Amino acid sequence: MLEKPTLPHVSESKTCRNCRLQKPLTEFTVHKDTKDRLSNHCRLCQKKRRRQSYARNRTRLAEKLLTGTKRCRQCGEIKSAQEFHRNYANLEGLHNLCKTCRRASDRRRFEKNERSLADNPPTGKKVCAKCEEETELTNFYVDRTKKDGRKTYCKQCSNTQKKKWLQNNPGNLGRQRERLALRRKQQQQHSIADLILAYAGSTTK
Ligand SMILES: [Zn+2]
Ligand SMILES: [Zn+2]
Ligand SMILES: [Zn+2]
Repeated sequence: MLEKPTLPHVSESKTCRNCRLQKPLTEFTVHKDTKDRLSNHCRLCQKKRRRQSYARNRTRLAEKLLTGTKRCRQCGEIKSAQEFHRNYANLEGLHNLCKTCRRASDRRRFEKNERSLADNPPTGKKVCAKCEEETELTNFYVDRTKKDGRKTYCKQCSNTQKKKWLQNNPGNLGRQRERLALRRKQQQQHSIADLILAYAGSTTK
């Protein structure tokens, strides 16, 4: 017999199976396979678990040269691993769409969003996906590929994330700094050369 699903009353709480903490039902996501239609793990624990599996995949795949082929879910073509962007959330470390299709779909989403954003510019507040704080929309960087035209992380979280990334990728930062230093040096040399030329010019006249 099919029972009609009834959602428990919102004021009730539930104990998370992972952290064993009793939390309000709003702290649990909807899940269709459980008795009460809610996940057995709280949002925080779910998030933690997702992050852990991502990190595991990342370390496992980081050093591994991705070889082999994969069928793109969009164009259906079988392409080499190099034709796909990396995605550590996936087991084989590759995106489901090939680079070409991803670019095209990004482009389409961007254009569609740009049109809708032009019609009704977003206002109000937004909850940051990282710190979960609700702040003004202006506290989020602009991202035209998103539905509301803003990034999912607030500016503070975006900045700390960027900082963390740079710390975790010192090689990239080092190269970037090197390039910058080289450019500055070249500019300096240019200006010195200009000065000498100007000086020489003024004295020979
Ligand atoms: Zn929990
Ligand atoms: Zn494709
Ligand atoms: Zn935030």
